[in-house]
Amino acid sequence: MEVRDARKVFDPVHTDTFKWSYLLAPMTDSYATCMPELNLPSMQQTLLEYQAILENASVGILFTRDRKVLHCNPKFSEIFGWPHGELVGQPGFVFYLSPENYAEMGRIATPILASAELLDVEIPMCRKDGSIVFCHMRARAINPNNTAEGTIWIAEDISDKKTAQQALAEAHQELELRVQERTSELVKARQQLEVVIQSAPLSIYTRGLDSLTMSWNPAAERMFGWTKEEAIGEPLRTIPKDHESAFNKLHQRAVSGESIIQQDVVLQKRDGMLIDTSVTIAPLKDSEGILYGFVNIIADITERNAAKQKIEFLAYHDPLTGLPNRLLLQDRMQQAIAQADRQQKGLALMFLDLDNFKKINDSLGHATGDSFLKEVATRLKKCVRDTDTISRQGGDEFVIILGDLSGNDVTPPIMSKIMERLQDPFHTEGIELSTSVSIGVALYPDDGSDFETLSKKADMAMFRAKEAGRNTYRFFDEEMNTAATEHLVVRNGLRRALDRGEFMLHYQPQIDLASGTVIGAEALIRWNHPEFGLVPPGRFIPIAEDSGLIVPIGEWVIHEACRQAMEWKKAGLPELVLAVNLSAVQFKRSNVEHTVIQALSQSGLNPHFLELELTESILIQNVEQVLATVKRLKLLGLKISIDDFGTGYSSLSYLKRFDIDKLKIDQSFVRDLATDPDDGAIVRAIIQMARSLNLKTIAEGVETPAMLQQLSTFGCDEAQGYHFARPMPAAEFVRYLSGKDSKQSKG
Ligand code: C2E
Ligand code: MG
Ligand code: MG
Repeated sequence: MEVRDARKVFDPVHTDTFKWSYLLAPMTDSYATCMPELNLPSMQQTLLEYQAILENASVGILFTRDRKVLHCNPKFSEIFGWPHGELVGQPGFVFYLSPENYAEMGRIATPILASAELLDVEIPMCRKDGSIVFCHMRARAINPNNTAEGTIWIAEDISDKKTAQQALAEAHQELELRVQERTSELVKARQQLEVVIQSAPLSIYTRGLDSLTMSWNPAAERMFGWTKEEAIGEPLRTIPKDHESAFNKLHQRAVSGESIIQQDVVLQKRDGMLIDTSVTIAPLKDSEGILYGFVNIIADITERNAAKQKIEFLAYHDPLTGLPNRLLLQDRMQQAIAQADRQQKGLALMFLDLDNFKKINDSLGHATGDSFLKEVATRLKKCVRDTDTISRQGGDEFVIILGDLSGNDVTPPIMSKIMERLQDPFHTEGIELSTSVSIGVALYPDDGSDFETLSKKADMAMFRAKEAGRNTYRFFDEEMNTAATEHLVVRNGLRRALDRGEFMLHYQPQIDLASGTVIGAEALIRWNHPEFGLVPPGRFIPIAEDSGLIVPIGEWVIHEACRQAMEWKKAGLPELVLAVNLSAVQFKRSNVEHTVIQALSQSGLNPHFLELELTESILIQNVEQVLATVKRLKLLGLKISIDDFGTGYSSLSYLKRFDIDKLKIDQSFVRDLATDPDDGAIVRAIIQMARSLNLKTIAEGVETPAMLQQLSTFGCDEAQGYHFARPMPAAEFVRYLSGKDSKQSKG
């Protein structure tokens, strides 16, 4: 029950006029008879007016006396559901829901009414039929000093208002409840999110559009090394300088509307170390949808990438040696074939099988066997180019693809190299081991056009190598085998030739064209092979260069030439300059200067009588180093000439810098001198150029008088060739010289 503050409420009842009406009403008739002087007509008029007001009032009005209904207006009956007139005399409690309700009203109302205050309550009351009617009740005692005299009640049906109020209150309550729920949900969600961010193994940070870091979680601290305090409010430092533009592009995608962007990028740690990461970027928008920054979620995938790479590597490589496996070999073979076709070149597929691996493995154990195989792999790599493929097929079998072959004959030197490298002793765990290898070769395109065919043929060739006694190689093609066998025979024979004294020098005279006299001779090496007879240098010098044997052979040539020259001098022969050929490999790999000094001092030959023939290829490698060596050689008093001039790449400036004495015009120009005007022009140009540089010229390969004639016309200084004499053994050369002398003296 709600009690209102009476002072604040409008009080339509508490007026004198109303009191009058109330007091007068029951008495009207009696007064009219007893006191006719009271101007009854006007009073009656007033009463009627009040009567009308009461009858038509829109509020219920009730008069009670002794807690019973004295009188009420029709509205009151209507509100409480009583037929008008039946209420008079009814006790007050008929309006109340329960006796307790009635009693409580009494407790509240009595003191208020007694103190002349207005009772103002909103209370559910009872209709005649027992239903509830919500009323706003106001009441006042007619005489506060004696409340039993009567009370006037004004009743207003506020059921509708109450229902509306209640509905409003309920709605309000419901809303409040929902807001409460929602707030607690939000708080919970925020808490959960915070836990996730703080404990996530992923770096999570946010940055504003100004690139300044806004938040930075513990994982970011661990991943990148900057603490939260160092990171927040600072520009991002995780992006390496050269990756900035890539990263900005990702943000640009987020700006232009992509909601989630995922990409693998490289980021950097505080110490500068780079890490592979997977980055997820999402735009941050405020409640109005306006972008204000980005959230970055970052996973370190360095290890994952490494593992992935390792798995990929293992899928295509032999785990022991790290060499490509058969799968990758096949792929490389396809690529090599495609490339060979494009470049119109050949390639070789080589099958290698170690000859004694099983013995090593069985007697020394698998661990030794494994390290042995690894060493084999390392050595094989050193024998081929980086672009070639070496693969381990399992066990002691290896396969090599040699690409970019300009001819089939380029493979024997490589195979010889492989055989030699593998024969060099291995040292493992204090044991010295060595192995030999059997190699089978198939050539593309001659032996087949696909991997399967070629590998079958290479395998067959390898078995033939085994059958032939191992430690050798065999081509699938028989013709190739003959040539290759010769290569092997020469290579193996060269090793012994020096010790067995199978080398000799032949001498070819060099003629001064002005005087017609022999002024020198070129020393040309010959190999007196026990089986093949006299082998020309063209057949063994390249093999000697390839195997490194050129160094001791070259040393022998210099010593022998000096010795011979000195012998001739002692024998009283005319003084001649002896020219010795130097190979580029020899120049590169050995101390030529030392050899020359040794040979001169051992023989006692005056350096003026020794000439070194260098090729243009020597001059263009390691220029400064070669220049220094040549200068020192010249200081000794030697002569230097350039052999086969015109076929290489020497420039005029080199010729000047190297202080060369003589150019030997290559035979290829001399050969067609008389018939090919181009060659004539070249030879003439060489001679003129040499002259202007103060160099002498000698023509090689002069075979006919016509050539000689032409060279004389061009002003060539010297000549050498079959027209004068073929290269000949020393004894013959002496006879040649004495014969020439007798002819000259006769002439
Ligand atoms: P080269 O130094 O240009 O020697 C000249 C070659 O031409 C010699 O061949 C010689 O026999 C040949 N020849 C001389 N006159 C004529 C001719 O009128 N017509 C034709 N067609 N050929 C002629 P050889 O002796 O077979 O030597 C070939 C090459 O082997 C030499 O070319 C030289 O580069 C190299 N060589 C020879 N001896 C040695 C040596 O002791 N050490 C080194 N490193 N290389 C050598
Ligand atoms: Mg020569
Ligand atoms: Mg030459």
